Amino acid sequence: MTPRVRFAPSPTGHLHVGGARTAIFNWLFARHHGGAFIVRVEDTDQARSTLESEQMVLDDLRWLGLQWDEGPDVGGPHAPYRQSERTARYDEVASEMVAQGQAYRCFCSEAELEAKRKAAEAEQRAPHYDLTCYRLSEAQIAAKLATSMPHAIRFHIPKEAGAPFDANVTIHDIIRGEVSWTKETLGDFILVRSDGLPTYNFSVVVDDHDMAITHVIRAEEHLTNTHRQVLIYRARSWDVPEFAHVSLILGQDRTKLSKRHGATSVSAYAEEGFLSEAMVNYLTLLGWSTPDEREIFTRVYAIENFSLRSVNPAPAVFDPQKFEWLNGQYIHALPPESLREMLLTRFSAVGWVREGSAEIDAWLDDLVEMARKKVNRLNDFISVLRFVFEFHAEAAVLVSEAATPDQKNQPVLADPRARPLIAAIAADFREHGVPGDEETFKQFVERMKSDTGLKGKDLFMPLRVALTGSTHGPELHRAVPLMERGSRIAGLAPIVSPRTRVERIAVLLAE
Ligand code: GLU
Repeated sequence: MTPRVRFAPSPTGHLHVGGARTAIFNWLFARHHGGAFIVRVEDTDQARSTLESEQMVLDDLRWLGLQWDEGPDVGGPHAPYRQSERTARYDEVASEMVAQGQAYRCFCSEAELEAKRKAAEAEQRAPHYDLTCYRLSEAQIAAKLATSMPHAIRFHIPKEAGAPFDANVTIHDIIRGEVSWTKETLGDFILVRSDGLPTYNFSVVVDDHDMAITHVIRAEEHLTNTHRQVLIYRARSWDVPEFAHVSLILGQDRTKLSKRHGATSVSAYAEEGFLSEAMVNYLTLLGWSTPDEREIFTRVYAIENFSLRSVNPAPAVFDPQKFEWLNGQYIHALPPESLREMLLTRFSAVGWVREGSAEIDAWLDDLVEMARKKVNRLNDFISVLRFVFEFHAEAAVLVSEAATPDQKNQPVLADPRARPLIAAIAADFREHGVPGDEETFKQFVERMKSDTGLKGKDLFMPLRVALTGSTHGPELHRAVPLMERGSRIAGLAPIVSPRTRVERIAVLLAE
């Protein structure tokens, strides 16, 4: 039997990391077993579902690189894959169930039901439906229908002796093991609401059956729904799929991961500059551990080795630092052209790169290479490289409100030895030109040492502040030649050359 699994998002917002992890596990399972991965959109909650959200969720799944075999956009043998387009089918099954005595029409109003619940509560009885409408005679039903009285369709749980099926349920959850429920814990429940819309438990079972789903891999929060769902399968004599309920994802404080913990949507991580490969890798590790305990792996490796049986039933803790670290590993290993491709849109968006040329590409490759080991996210390239494109001499020297100077600049520049040093650097650049590579940079540093007698921090800190406006950043022997080169390349935001930088600072310090 080829497995068929589905990811069934409710399109009420962005795809979140929990949903993404569920989708990934379904996809890995399908690919590992050569089965089918299906996306089904559960949009029967009309108040909250939107087509835009469906689009966003599908885009996020695509960005993650999870290809599905059947779904609302690609179609398939069991279309439609959008629940809002399947209501006729739910009606059909519901009618059959009523005709066969597995379900019945319930005419009780919300107010009546509420009163019954309150009464049950007061008498400390379980708030189960009291079967009023189950006991209606054919004539009573016909009379109510004749007045077009609104009604729901309610599933009947056979608790009596000689029932057509056992309403006690035990499942062997692939992740959680044996889970049992007894029939006493449930009352007759609604399949179709009086507004004609199916309940989640009903539409899921009809769809999973119709779509020949063999394994239901979903979030732990749906475990309690499984009792009702299995009862519907039994009433219909349908094959019951296997179940695998994946544990919750918690934040570092061990409460359920939510907005309070920071970004939780896939697209927010994408915007920050997480790579889809890193995201799939990290989310796969939330619950699954590799047989050889490796933490960085390709999709091919995950597909080959994935097993639901080795998914941990305990909650997984989302560790943003670890995720960042892992993303950094992916960024550090990317081929230069791929990395440049990814960064170009970001660099264009901030106005740094305005045109395309082979010269720009070659320069960008060197620039990116200089920063690569310092970043974990694509966005970090912007902060690490900002000094190249944005240089404010005044801000570097003064604590100005307009810019955000590095507060550590002040003591460096206030040192009485800094001013003559910076004047000497300006003079050296005028005489010898700005160093164009590592070798000439070294010679320049040697000249500065012998001219000023300074070395180590005393030499390099003022030098760094004068050239970059900050006390920290990439290696100067790479940054200085790159800034010089960049200042002469057309199609980039204007880059202030190292020589101009030092001269401006020298003037400001002399004032
Ligand atoms: N639509 C449900 C959800 O988003 C999934 C239900 C299921 O997988 O059975 O939580």
